[in-house]
Amino acid sequence: MDRFVYQSAPMRVVFGTGTLAELPAELERLSISRALVLTTPPQEKQGHDIAALLGARAAGIFSGATMHTPVDVTELAMAQVKALNADGVVAVGGGSTTGLGKAIALRTDLPQVVVPTSYAGSEMTPILGETRDGLKTTQSSPKILPETVVYDVDLTMSLPPGMTATSGMNAIAHAVEALYAREKNPIISLMAEEAIRALATALPVIVATPGDREARSGALYGAWLAGTCLGAVGMALHHKLCHTLGGTFDLPHAETHTIVLPHAMAYNAPAVPEVAARIARALGTSDAAQGLYDLARRLHAKLALKDIGMPESGIDRAADLAVTNAYWNPRPLERGAIRDLIARAFAGEAPVTVPLA
Ligand code: NAD
Repeated sequence: MDRFVYQSAPMRVVFGTGTLAELPAELERLSISRALVLTTPPQEKQGHDIAALLGARAAGIFSGATMHTPVDVTELAMAQVKALNADGVVAVGGGSTTGLGKAIALRTDLPQVVVPTSYAGSEMTPILGETRDGLKTTQSSPKILPETVVYDVDLTMSLPPGMTATSGMNAIAHAVEALYAREKNPIISLMAEEAIRALATALPVIVATPGDREARSGALYGAWLAGTCLGAVGMALHHKLCHTLGGTFDLPHAETHTIVLPHAMAYNAPAVPEVAARIARALGTSDAAQGLYDLARRLHAKLALKDIGMPESGIDRAADLAVTNAYWNPRPLERGAIRDLIARAFAGEAPVTVPLA
């Protein structure tokens, strides 16, 4: 076996159905007696319900969380932290709300409890992406890592099938890239393969029957594993492409991941054939890239970047950006082949595996 380094994150995870009832006790463990509850505007009611559950342990609610963690929104929330003398945050929602909790923790070192309601996986990472004047910068710090995560399957039942599909594919992307990461190690690879298996099994069931609690449980379990992978090892071409495309053309996060993933997999597969075989096995198929494309299609997800707002003139620009600022990838970055894969993703075509030059 190759040499490896494995570092586990100091994080407490409570997983199950009805686990929200344990939230007051989880806050007590962290000595939080005046929590600020965070949500997005559409999830404000959920925030009020949770504040009611917390009773005197809730100091108030901030329901202004939004995509890309803009610094001006964080400053509004920080004013509330100070005004209420909050001694902890409870983030209830998807990656956007978790991002706000992390931004507050970075500035204050207050303890965070996250109650995820999507499959984004941000709750398991010490990484924060913030936007200032339209520019997104990403940083990592132990202060950013949440102390406790309470996964309650009940809270994911309302995730609409369309978002379930793309958020779930976003989670699969973390696991796929963990399997060929530079820092890959046997523990994270076990988690990654299990994440892909769990999500690929559960997502089609949920899209067909959104009320299937067992499938919802399987997807949330897969999302937890995938988030752990994202927090433990570095990502590669796929995440870089999605970051570039999302930032340059303001494309929706999870949908972009869903569309790009089969094409990034096809690009990297010839460089890591044993990993591609492992991913195919987890998907229950013979070809990893085609299997990911077929899964997205089965989930009725959009398959073309042109359908989520990317302009055709952006293909070359995206290819240029994807090969500047060198970053690690299992296959060297070849501009021509990367331009071709972006063009295929733009059009919604099936992935094409290009042999190594
Ligand atoms: P999101 O948090 O923006 O949620 C999208 C919308 O869905 C929001 O309006 C939200 O309130 C709503 N929603 C969430 N759960 C719901 C539910 N169960 N029922 C009904 N509505 C629900 O989207 P996301 O995909 O969860 O997160 C994406 C963001 O997270 C991106 O900004 C991304 O950069 C970030 N992210 C960060 C990391 C990290 O490690 N820092 C990791 C993954 C994602």
